[in-house]
Amino acid sequence: MVASKPTILVTGGAGYIGSHAVLTLKQAGYDVVILDNLVYGHRDLVESVLQVKLIEGDMNDRTLLDQLFASHSIAGVMHFAAYAYVGESVSDPAKYYRNNVIGTVTLLEAMLAANIKQFVFSSTCATYGIPKSVPIPEDHPQDPINPYGATKLMVERILADFDRAYGLKSVCFRYFNAAGADPAGQLGEDHQPETHLIPLVLQTALGVRESIAVFGTDYPTPDGTCIRDYIHVTDLAAAHVLGLEYLLQGGASAKFNLGNGNGFSVKEVIETARRITGRDIPAVEHDRRPGDPPALIGSSERAKTILGWQPQYSDLEQIITHAWNWHQKRHAIDPSS
Ligand code: UDP
Repeated sequence: MVASKPTILVTGGAGYIGSHAVLTLKQAGYDVVILDNLVYGHRDLVESVLQVKLIEGDMNDRTLLDQLFASHSIAGVMHFAAYAYVGESVSDPAKYYRNNVIGTVTLLEAMLAANIKQFVFSSTCATYGIPKSVPIPEDHPQDPINPYGATKLMVERILADFDRAYGLKSVCFRYFNAAGADPAGQLGEDHQPETHLIPLVLQTALGVRESIAVFGTDYPTPDGTCIRDYIHVTDLAAAHVLGLEYLLQGGASAKFNLGNGNGFSVKEVIETARRITGRDIPAVEHDRRPGDPPALIGSSERAKTILGWQPQYSDLEQIITHAWNWHQKRHAIDPSS
């Protein structure tokens, strides 16, 4: 008989990246409890696909957290729950600092009270701000240019202080552009509202949108459009399990980039999607979107060396193919998505 693995709490486990992490944890044999306030998460996917316990509630609710930790034997926490709309973080920063920072401190305090000291944190390349050079290594200066990135950097700093003071061990993953969908087609991206390039391009292919806006064609890049490092969500999920296991085996706190180390322009993404979908996908040139750096590409050598992480779906065609399969399936159920 295989020894059972511990139970992991996944906050935001009903959301895009969190749900893929739950699936990967389950496939690796872990028991999972999800805490999600369902503001953006999807109950239907938890119930039909993940089939793990879902506690509907907020991480700002300390009483709920204390009850949760008292009634489950949790060995570690993966923390995805956060607001993540950059534009909204500029117009309503209070919402972001309250949820992403104060909510996380509440969660960490509840963990410490329950003597749980392993924490995997969903951070972002937005903590780097405008990169001085690419590919970006982890020791690149962090200087975020919007409140969303600032909230994630604050939590990284809080985690460093909590390690020194309370011995709480953490792994921070700074993602580049999460994209794609579960290769088996069970899960995928479904943000309302949607702001990300690949889902918007695919919604255009499906006719949900008339055209895709290309934000800026005068950047100092080969075709004038922004370059991003797209990383498959299932590869992100795999890194989280490796990060968790590293901590459970006594690893020191660490920070890792997660990207593919190569970049694609907005025009290349649209072209690739046209090829894969066989659809027209009208594109309309637009002004730059404020706050977009010309190119963001990560160096993920540290995750490969220390965690043994190896992306399985690093090819843009695969990423878009998996996303396309998912979007067609979701669209058949809900024609507005
Ligand atoms: N983008 C675009 N049109 C859109 C949405 C995004 O041209 O409708 C561009 C955006 O300016 C950026 C890239 O696509 O250069 C990726 O944007 P996304 O919002 O997906 O991720 P971000 O890089 O902001 O995290």
